[in-house]
Amino acid sequence: MGQLNAGIVPVTPFQQNCTILFDTDDKTGVVVDPGGDIEQILRVLDENKIAVSAIWLTHGHIDHAGGAMDLKDRLGIEIVGPHEDDRPLLANLENQAQRFGLTDPVRNCVPDRFLEEGDIVSFGSHTFSVLHCPGHAPGHVVYFNPVAKFAHVGDVLFRGSVGRTDLPGGDHAALIRSIKEKLLPLGDDIGFICGHGPGGRFGEERRTNPFLI
Ligand SMILES: [Zn+2]
Ligand SMILES: [Zn+2]
Repeated sequence: MGQLNAGIVPVTPFQQNCTILFDTDDKTGVVVDPGGDIEQILRVLDENKIAVSAIWLTHGHIDHAGGAMDLKDRLGIEIVGPHEDDRPLLANLENQAQRFGLTDPVRNCVPDRFLEEGDIVSFGSHTFSVLHCPGHAPGHVVYFNPVAKFAHVGDVLFRGSVGRTDLPGGDHAALIRSIKEKLLPLGDDIGFICGHGPGGRFGEERRTNPFLI
């Protein structure tokens, strides 16, 4: 069994961290949040000879899910997640694209499978538990791998900040609850990748993030 590794491909004008999670030995993996720039994602997969078995979505915003249907069709793989509470957002991606003035083609998304709190998703020998973390978006999920002490937190938590809650379905109190009651208790030593900007560690955020202290 190889190590869990992650490669980031910044996509869309929002510089969203599309993340390729993969096994360093057998080069199997998944793509988290292919918001757009599909050709670039495919090129990185090809150059690194990574075979992806699924697309995992953290939530239904355009910069995270806008390219999911195209990537699914190109690779013939399933879209898994987020929680069903983001179904309306995913059904509205074309409108989100218009609202943000995006010019690249975007398709509304219907995942093959929605996720719930406590679900387990995996590729190869790497297993992640699903945490439903509403607040930034109602159906936002976080993928947590206890063995690697790693979480992909999407737009729930950033280094030194938290997700915005002024978009439809946003709820700041719920967001802070999600972080304090579900993420931080996983442990100070958990490393995270987030949807925008650099990742970090939960302990550092617990001690210094102005939204959490
Ligand atoms: Zn978002
Ligand atoms: Zn985002």
